[in-house]
Amino acid sequence: MKKHNFSPGPCILPQEVMQKAADAVRELDGTGLSLIEISHRSPEFVAIMENARNLALELLGLEDKGYEALYLQGGASTQFLATAYNLLEKRAGYINTGTWSAKAIKEAKLFGEVVEVASSQDENYRYIPKDFAIPEGLDYLHLTTNNTIFGTQFKEIPQADTTLVADMSSDIFSREMDFSRFGLIYAGAQKNLGPAGATLVIVREDILGKVSRQIPSMLDYRMHISKDSMYNTPPVFAVYTAMLNLQWLKAQGGIPAIAEINEKKAKLLYSEIDLNPLFQGVAASEDRSHMNATFTLTEPELKERFDAMWKEAGINGLNGHRSVGGYRASMYNALSLESVGVLVDVMSDLERKA
Ligand SMILES: *Cc1c(COP(=O)(O)O)cnc(C)c1O
Repeated sequence: MKKHNFSPGPCILPQEVMQKAADAVRELDGTGLSLIEISHRSPEFVAIMENARNLALELLGLEDKGYEALYLQGGASTQFLATAYNLLEKRAGYINTGTWSAKAIKEAKLFGEVVEVASSQDENYRYIPKDFAIPEGLDYLHLTTNNTIFGTQFKEIPQADTTLVADMSSDIFSREMDFSRFGLIYAGAQKNLGPAGATLVIVREDILGKVSRQIPSMLDYRMHISKDSMYNTPPVFAVYTAMLNLQWLKAQGGIPAIAEINEKKAKLLYSEIDLNPLFQGVAASEDRSHMNATFTLTEPELKERFDAMWKEAGINGLNGHRSVGGYRASMYNALSLESVGVLVDVMSDLERKA
């Protein structure tokens, strides 16, 4: 039986995307060759890369606005340093909302001065800082729009008169936003876009070429742009599957349609967390993520019983991150409202039986 996969990443993808990806590994569209053995310079793969890049821009509403989409390797973790390498000349601002932001800060410090503009570390990142002052003269301001581990999400993107750079690994394509407010967006594919192995980078070209340092080719966005995201062999399987997933998203009605479903899923689960006395949310209510819901049991001795119950119901991937404990339900685009319903039923069952 297919599991209800609440895993934080690598994540659930739509069944039809999995099926088409599997088919292409056997044979790509009548070519007599597998997707993973054709040349990445073949017309077939060049078209796939172009399609994947265009779909990303189209779905984000960034076509013809000076942006380029790239599918790179090395994960979001490589983007922590690539962003600073390409953009940090003197001083950059970072909002520290969790483990991933902290890692981005650590890398950026290798390249220049980093101002930690705001932080929620004092409460183990259970909230999103608000009403903080942003200093003048920053090369850019970096934020993590969704904090996968702690279950918080920026509901409003801060106003800043500098370039906004965002790690959107765990909520890209999940909700509506004015994406044109950002100069650069990056996301490891394996949270909401596709399989691990590709990292989507969306960059507005006019912010590049302003630092004085030499940039090694593999980390240079301008190099990747000039080679149409094929400076070296791209991760062909990850790019193809991401393309299929974006086609699926477009057929669903794009971001507005999926955002509506994501909101329903989040409401269903959070209302159970709030109404059921056996559970308690971890993140501050107003900052709750629609993608990753973190919660704990109010009676820890029920853990064994609850764990057995959700596993019995075919649920996978519900354990919280070790730095938070408790539970984390990740509800990425491909997870259905029905699957969230199964989890909520288990939670109310526990209350009845306890
Ligand atoms: C998972 C995650 C990362 C790390 O991504 P990798 O692709 O494994 O390097 C970075 N940022 C956020 C917000 C994440 O959720």
